[in-house]
Amino acid sequence: MLRRFRLEEPESVAQASELLGRFGDSAKIYAGGTELLLAMKEGLVQYERLINVKKLGLNQISAENGTIKIGALCTHHELELSPVIQQRLPSLLKLEQNVANVRVRQAGTIGGNLCFAEPHADPGTLLMALGAKMVAAQGSAKREIAAEDFFVDAYETSLAADEVLAEIVVPAPGANARSAYLKFGYLERPSVGVAVAFNLNGANVSDVRIAVGCAGPAPKRVAEAEALLSGKTKDEATRNLAQAGAIAGRAAQAISDLHGAQDYKEHIVGVLLKRTFQAAVS
Ligand SMILES: Cc1cc2nc3c(=O)[nH]c(=O)nc-3n(C[C@H](O)[C@H](O)[C@H](O)COP(=O)(O)OP(=O)(O)OC[C@H]3O[C@@H](n4cnc5c(N)ncnc54)[C@H](O)[C@@H]3O)c2cc1C
Repeated sequence: MLRRFRLEEPESVAQASELLGRFGDSAKIYAGGTELLLAMKEGLVQYERLINVKKLGLNQISAENGTIKIGALCTHHELELSPVIQQRLPSLLKLEQNVANVRVRQAGTIGGNLCFAEPHADPGTLLMALGAKMVAAQGSAKREIAAEDFFVDAYETSLAADEVLAEIVVPAPGANARSAYLKFGYLERPSVGVAVAFNLNGANVSDVRIAVGCAGPAPKRVAEAEALLSGKTKDEATRNLAQAGAIAGRAAQAISDLHGAQDYKEHIVGVLLKRTFQAAVS
């Protein structure tokens, strides 16, 4: 059962951050509530105050100065419907269409997904491959955190206790940019997710970024696997995919749980890397 709590209604992001600082561990940001209220109902966490950020206007999506800016309060459904996402970030569009179910996509926000850092989540892995940065607000100050530095562990990010995630900034993909994200799972949430992004200039593959998620505590970028594909021709890169997949499988820090055994998840990472690369190429 949900215990009583006080709902704070800040009028700005700076005020929300100030409330977090003032009330410390007894307060938490409340966005869509799809994770938070569930955890509170189950008695897994309790907060005296929830800080409602839904009315702070953080749900804009725009393309400007070579970047795509996504407000942290955009729901998964708003991302699906956004012409900017449809035209500029088709891999994110496809991911968002397959997050959870219609009900969760209507209420759940991308910021809530990232900040909760539940291991079996999709967006963080693709955003890492796309080179995204998270913009964190503390009072009226802002800082950018690279996606690979944002996720620390299961349910843990590098946000300070009084920081609010304000927006996500993704470099706008160029004409030769390719990216894809694929996941696999048989429970409600994904067991393994793999994302790749690279430039394809004729037959030449460059600037490869690979990220693996869901299998271990937090998404990870896999530089060693990237090096096997970057600066290669498409055929050379394809030949190296098995080796890159084995490296990515180990880098995922897979754990045995209800979603599958460690070695099984490592194997699936390799399978998904091959398919993700091919999907991005085509
Ligand atoms: C049944 C179910 C199935 C799901 N399946 C999937 C799936 O297949 N793939 C997937 O990726 N996800 C899945 N999810 C997770 C879903 O995407 C998240 O529940 C949702 O995006 C969380 O957003 P929210 O706005 O509801 O967060 P909330 O519940 O409001 O908040 C979650 C946490 O983040 C903090 N927080 C929220 N916003 C901010 C902010 N701007 N700054 C700082 N802290 C913040 C809150 O304080 C809280 O601790 C599933 C969830 C459910 C319930």
